[in-house]
Amino acid sequence: MGEHFELLLAGAGHAHLGVLRQWAVKPQSRPIGRIGLLSADAHAWYSGMLPGLLSGRYALEQCRIGLAKLCAKAGVELLLGQACGLDPKNQQLQLSDGRQLQYDYLSLNLGSLPQAPKQYGSGLELLPVKPFSAFITRWQHWQQQPQPLAILGGGAAGVELALALAAQLPAVTLLNAGELLSGHPATLRQRALTHLAKAGVMVQEHCRVNEVLDQHLLSAGRVVWRGGRALVASGASALPWLQASGLACDNQGFVSITASLQSSSHPTVFAVGDCASLAHTPHNGVYAVRQGPVLALNLAALIEQRPLTMYQPQRRALALLATGDGGALASWAGLTFEGQLLGRWKDHLDQSFMRRHGGI
Ligand SMILES: Cc1cc2nc3c(=O)[nH]c(=O)nc-3n(C[C@H](O)[C@H](O)[C@H](O)COP(=O)(O)OP(=O)(O)OC[C@H]3O[C@@H](n4cnc5c(N)ncnc54)[C@H](O)[C@@H]3O)c2cc1C
Repeated sequence: MGEHFELLLAGAGHAHLGVLRQWAVKPQSRPIGRIGLLSADAHAWYSGMLPGLLSGRYALEQCRIGLAKLCAKAGVELLLGQACGLDPKNQQLQLSDGRQLQYDYLSLNLGSLPQAPKQYGSGLELLPVKPFSAFITRWQHWQQQPQPLAILGGGAAGVELALALAAQLPAVTLLNAGELLSGHPATLRQRALTHLAKAGVMVQEHCRVNEVLDQHLLSAGRVVWRGGRALVASGASALPWLQASGLACDNQGFVSITASLQSSSHPTVFAVGDCASLAHTPHNGVYAVRQGPVLALNLAALIEQRPLTMYQPQRRALALLATGDGGALASWAGLTFEGQLLGRWKDHLDQSFMRRHGGI
């Protein structure tokens, strides 16, 4: 029998940061009882600022939030460790170091992992962009000896990374299964292609990399790139141990939730952000942030047996993509824009997020 918590928050994702902030600034909104935050990392990294970090516009400390201070202010115990198993029937979370944590209520905000292709042989190092701390440590090592780089994934993250890194490396190739930035207006793709061409990034669309063989990236058996280093920034995939936990999941393995943000099979478990699955709620940071206030209300309401609030995903979300030169591309309600002013606005929004959560 492990340590017992009335409420356990697993993962320091965007929504949990919002919950912690809420309890720090409004202690009366914190439910009573022992509350713990389990995090694999002593910091929460802010993905929106990662491209700025890589392009040298931000320092490391500007892009991460120290969890010890935020937890102390919120009256929450910080537990450093990696969850590797969940038994929702016995209300127990298993950690990779052998510890077991018992809970009455659990909230999952654990993010997702990029989808890496199968790898055979050696000679090519595949580096997933998440978890961020492992990625950044390895990236700093790579930086000492710049080499040509392939980036797998042409969504917003892959495009931003390519634009952030193009000036620092001998060559950058961006490979994507379909067209770049699918799901965004076609004009955003056109604008991104123009910036990528100007930055010297080679783009291969309709090129799903499904295998790595020695130093080769293969798409449907055909060699599409050869080299020693590739970043994996393709899509969100579910955490396998969560998928195996017995919680109801969608067909991709993300935890199925209801509008109250509770697991559709186990109502004592909440799930938010990338690890959860709810209609009309894409896997990205904007939606995870917006779930935070509803989650804070519902955690307290369930524990105190009050009615729950329903989360309504916003119909539109602003997408802001850094172009690596201080500017940004934006899309909103089918319209697209670009320029240096937008870049400054993105900086302002990102830094405000960091001040709100880190400056408490
Ligand atoms: C380069 C890049 C740029 C991006 N830019 C944007 C952007 O501008 N806007 C946007 O909306 N989205 C952006 N995204 C997507 C965004 O990163 C994710 O959608 C978002 O981080 C998901 O947030 P989350 O709250 O679900 O979890 P995350 O923010 O991913 O947090 C998950 C947390 O759980 C912890 N964790 C994970 N597994 C375990 C475990 N087993 N045990 C304990 N702790 C664990 C991690 O350490 C982490 O603290 C970007 C992604 C990338 C890669």
